[in-house]
Parts: sequence; structure tokens; C-alpha cells
Amino acid sequence: MKTIKDMNIDNKRVIIRCDFNVPIKEGVIVDDTRIVGALPTIQYCIDHDCKIILMSHLGRVKEEADLEKNDLSPVADRLSQLLKRDILFSKKTRGEELEAIVDSLESGDIVLVQNTRYEDLDGKKESSNDEELGAYWASLGEVFVNDAFGTIHRAHASNVGIASHLPSCVGFLIEQELNALSVLDHPEHPFVVVLGGAKVADKIGVIENLVTKADKILIGGGMAFTFLKAKGVNIGKSLLDEENIDFCKKMLEEYPDKIELPIDFAVTNEFTNDEEYRTKLATELADDEMGLDIGSKTRTLYEEILRDARIVIWNGPLGVYEFEKYKKNTDELLKFIVEHNIKTILGGGDIVAAATTAGYKDLVYHASTGGGATLEYLEGKTLPGLEAIK
Ligand code: AMP
Repeated sequence: MKTIKDMNIDNKRVIIRCDFNVPIKEGVIVDDTRIVGALPTIQYCIDHDCKIILMSHLGRVKEEADLEKNDLSPVADRLSQLLKRDILFSKKTRGEELEAIVDSLESGDIVLVQNTRYEDLDGKKESSNDEELGAYWASLGEVFVNDAFGTIHRAHASNVGIASHLPSCVGFLIEQELNALSVLDHPEHPFVVVLGGAKVADKIGVIENLVTKADKILIGGGMAFTFLKAKGVNIGKSLLDEENIDFCKKMLEEYPDKIELPIDFAVTNEFTNDEEYRTKLATELADDEMGLDIGSKTRTLYEEILRDARIVIWNGPLGVYEFEKYKKNTDELLKFIVEHNIKTILGGGDIVAAATTAGYKDLVYHASTGGGATLEYLEGKTLPGLEAIK
């Protein structure tokens, strides 16, 4: 994969596709992690005297009312503070104003273009990778750098579209993600997968892809109950993904020694944080009970397996971590991994959020920020944003 260091970018007009999809409340950026993450690539371009054009999407734009709340201009202000230099902002995603700003750029100057999804108001041009739009944006620059990992699994005009018209590469953020995730292509053994989260349906692709490579798959979360149901265990009122019972049955039959299921749960009668819970064996749930977290026996079992692992990938929390009572075992297992220095990749989404809240995110080997992109990588799918650069 071509990275920014492989390109001649000196003095060139460089378009960087960033991931500035940050939470903004009433014009104030609540969490600027993604903006900070983009700085190394931007700084590298400044150091190479580039004229820099930054692009990003923010939220979804389906109707006029979405425009104002997804205005990207607060990001320009925050970038300006972080980089300690002026950042120009183009209120429009195309047209004379944008072109005039781009023409006026001197070496080291930066313009941030309005939310690329403003173009979605007009026939989803950004999200459907409209050919004319990609070509137009590409005409503004000479080199394209994709540094937005979170949209790498999508073919949009601002990534795939531009990349198909310009010499292209990935920036430092994507390079870092790919380097970390690539250890899974030829993993050291024992290679252990921890899979939690709500529905089996969302993880079928991951299970199918990783079950042949992994030595163990430790199941937790709501998903576990569909596997237990497939074994004929009474799961009470616990989450069930009825349509995928057969899939679970097949996996358990084909890989009986690889798939580990919880042996106990924190159970209660209502889906709430307010009631007391009790810990019960997985085989002892009553009809009116539901499991909302794995139990401590399961955690100990999983810790013993993880202790010897050379590489671990973990996707999805082991319990309803939004409820204080049921995040305990997810947090404890994260702690175990950190304390025992087990080389672990947190595979996007909720588990990264859980690790962030618990203070472990920066202590694990890698926390992948991609959400859907990370999941598709784990499913072994080709990622259009990368294909376009290859
Ligand atoms: P996912 O997006 O598939 O990783 O799922 C994350 C969601 O799974 C979180 O919102 C958790 O609350 C939910 N979850 C985890 N364990 C359970 C459980 N035992 N019952 C219901 N939902 C769960």
C-alpha cells in the first residue's frame, strides 16, 4: 500500500480525506480525538510545503434541516487552535468560492471544505460515488491522501472517486491501522478471538472468517445465548437471534474445540440497571430470567485461555456495558489483558468505547477506530477505499 512517504508531495496541492466525523453539540466539539489523530498527516504536508485541501464528512445529510447541524466549520476553528495557524473554510462543497480559495493557497496554507455529505442532498452524490463529483473534487488537487479509516469500507466520491483520478496514497492514520490489523493476516499462535455484542447476525462474517485461523473463539454478550439455545440450553428471556440458531449449531458441530461459551451469567428479571442480579450457571436460568453479563467463573475460564495467547482480537462487550452493573466483566477482562501485557487488538465500536471509559484504550496494543470498517476487515472483505489506492 502506497503511503504518504512514498509520494512526491513537495509544493503540491494535496487533498487529504480526513475523518472529522466528531460529536458536536450546539456548535461545540465534544470530543476532538479524531481531529488530533489527523494532525501528523497534516503536519507532514505542511512540512513539505503543500497547499492543503482537507475534506471530511460529518453525520448524515438527508434533508435541508440536516445541513446546519452537520456544518463542519467548528472543526476549522479547532484545527486552527491545534495547529496554531489560520485555517481557511469553504462554506460550499463546490463552485467559485471554493475554487478561488484553492487558487489562492500558498505553500503551507490549509483550507477545510464543507461537509462532503452536503452533496448527498442532491441525489446522494457523495455517498453513491457520483462520477462527476469525484472528478470535480480531484481537479482541485494534484495528489490524494486518504486518512479516513472509518469510511474505507465505503465507495464514496470523496475517497474512491477522488482516488480514481489522482496519484493516491494513505496517510499515517490508515497506515497505522493497517499495520496493526495486518498481524491478523498471519497471526502468531495461540491466536484467540473474543467476541461479544448483541446479535449473532452482525458477527457471522467475522466468525466465518476467523474460526479457521483462530485457536479459540471466546463468546460473550447477548450472542452467547443463541449459541446456548443451539445446544438446547434454556436461556429464559435472554437475547435470542432466532434466525441464526442453525448457524450457531453448525459452528458448534464443526468447531467443537474452538468455540467456548459462558458457563455462568449475571442474571436478572428485567432489562434494567435498577434490579439486583444474581450469578447463575448457564444451565440454570429460569424462564423469567435473562443474562446481562457473563459470570465470574466464565471470566476466570477466559482469563486462563487468554494468559497464553500470542495475539488476541476482541470485538463487542461481554455484557450490557451501558449499565453500570453489567460492565464489570468486560472491564475486568480488559484489565487482565493490560496487566498481563497480552497483545490485543480491540476491533472497533463498542469495545473501544468501553475501553476508553475504563481508561484502558491507550494501554492495549491497538484500539481500532474503524467501527464498520474494522468489522469488514475482520470479515476478510476487500475495502473499496483501499482498492482504489492500490
Ligand atoms: P455490538 O454492537 O454487536 O458489538 O453490540 C453491543 C451491544 O451488545 C451493547 O449495546 C450491549 O449492551 C449489547 N449486549 C451485550 N451483552 C448483552 C446481553 N447479555 N444482552 C443484551 N444485550 C447485550
